[in-house]
Amino acid sequence: MQGPFTKEQLDLLYGNAEDLVFFMRKLGKGYVYEYVNALCTSTFKQELAGRTVDDSMPASVAEEIKKQYMIAESMTGTYRYRDYNLFSKNNVANETEITTFMHEGELFLLAVSKNVSKQKTIEEDYLFYQSLVQNSVDPMIMISSDFMVIDMNPAYENIFTVIKQQWIGKSFMELPSNSEKFLDKVHSELGEEKFEKGSSSFITSAKMKDGPDGKFSVSFSPVKIGEDIRAYQIVYRELTDEVQLKEELKKTENILDSYKDALNYAAMVAIWEPSGMIIFANDNFEGTTGYEKEELLGMQIAAIGRAVIPDAFYDNIRDIIFKGDIWRGEMKSLKKNGDFFWVDTTVIPLKNETGKIYQVLAIMFDITDRKKLEEKLHFMAYHDSLTRLPNRRLMMEEFELLESDADQDDRLIALLYIDGDDFKSVNDNFGHNIGDEFIACFGQALTQSIRSGDMAARIGGDEFVIAAAGINSEKAGMQIKNLINRIHQKLAEGWDIDGHHFAPTASIGIAFYPKDADNFEDLVKMADSALYESKKSGRNQVRFYEKNSERTH
Ligand code: GH3
Ligand code: MG
Repeated sequence: MQGPFTKEQLDLLYGNAEDLVFFMRKLGKGYVYEYVNALCTSTFKQELAGRTVDDSMPASVAEEIKKQYMIAESMTGTYRYRDYNLFSKNNVANETEITTFMHEGELFLLAVSKNVSKQKTIEEDYLFYQSLVQNSVDPMIMISSDFMVIDMNPAYENIFTVIKQQWIGKSFMELPSNSEKFLDKVHSELGEEKFEKGSSSFITSAKMKDGPDGKFSVSFSPVKIGEDIRAYQIVYRELTDEVQLKEELKKTENILDSYKDALNYAAMVAIWEPSGMIIFANDNFEGTTGYEKEELLGMQIAAIGRAVIPDAFYDNIRDIIFKGDIWRGEMKSLKKNGDFFWVDTTVIPLKNETGKIYQVLAIMFDITDRKKLEEKLHFMAYHDSLTRLPNRRLMMEEFELLESDADQDDRLIALLYIDGDDFKSVNDNFGHNIGDEFIACFGQALTQSIRSGDMAARIGGDEFVIAAAGINSEKAGMQIKNLINRIHQKLAEGWDIDGHHFAPTASIGIAFYPKDADNFEDLVKMADSALYESKKSGRNQVRFYEKNSERTH
């Protein structure tokens, strides 16, 4: 061999080398293998020594090798290039170091190719890790086993407002975002045996850029070399929204639960199918209606209170519900035992995703007490408390109805203005309590004297009004006479109070609608003026209103 080294020398140096070693001589534009080591022979499955690159390698590989050799020639010192697929299809990575030198006017090259596949894998993994870490929106930090900062990603820098360069090599414990509580937790987590096995995570809060603490789930995973933990990779996952959302959801659930409890406590709840068949009734519904749950289930909802609720009322609710709307209103219903109860009811159609009504829900509040009070107040507003007869206001309102009936039927209404004779003497002789009862009895006597379509009202102290409807103008005299007779008769029968018998008389003035006046107020005035006449003529008299004899006081 004509070269700087003998084959023996090169064998001694590279014979057992784990790297591919090529000793090349430049010949014209090509290269001759002067020496290759045993690994080359086995790798290329041919004897290369003495052959040229062009002769022994596939054309594309030969071209690439020559290109690299030429680059090496043009450089001083050692040239290194990487090639991941020159020699093999199975992704073996090689790094080739080429040293050129001249010997006796000839150029020689020593090319040593190391298998760097393992390193490549490590580098690739690192690059992959780097890109993951760098691009992650989750803050990540790597710390050594003695808690020194090794690396942090841009998300960590950004969210916790720290600058990576200022913290590399510094203590993780001093990072401003770490609360004491968090560090305690880190200490206890990292101190635990379980860490040997894998990762660990917990939830913590940490100071964020814009002031408020953020909630994070923090995961630690150990970075091991062999069995030893050399570092920890810490990943923060911001949970602020999720956690808050969960908390909100929990709150809402709690609120809903308390609504449900409150509703169950305060209201009657019933659910029925579109057919009207009850399929759910809560305890209150059972308690109020007096039906057992077993009786209610399967029963028609309309059956409850059927006797007091007109069909049209039910039909109206049904129409609204099956249009998909909510019905709200008050209704009177019947208990099993026949008592009334009043409910403020909201009826809600329950629809499935396609909008079809599959059930109907009713929430009912018992308003029986309120209704009774309202009825009482209404009664009080329209009745006289002593005699329980209608008062002037009710008479006035009812009179309008009588008027339209009379107009329609071409009838008259006789308005009798009645004032007790000498009632003052009852008080004077027997006291006010008996006087009160006396007036009540007087009212009752008048009520008993009228027919069912007529109406008696107390409009003042001992002043009463009777509206007698349906008077036929031709028979008016007779009809009135009958009425007066009945009154006289009742009064003549009299009544007993505390062992005293009373049979009072009364003076009566009469005016006719629409003959004398076409409204209640005027008619009362006319009748009052007739009454004045009757009192004037000696009491216990009846007078009809006459236009000319109008009273002037
Ligand atoms: P006259 O024949 O003129 O009608 O005489 P009178 O005593 O009936 O007197 P007047 O009609 O002017 O007055 C009605 C009397 O009736 C006054 C009062 O003594 C009595 N009175 C009226 N309202 C009440 C009441 O609510 N309770 C009691 N105890 N007495 C009443
Ligand atoms: Mg009187």
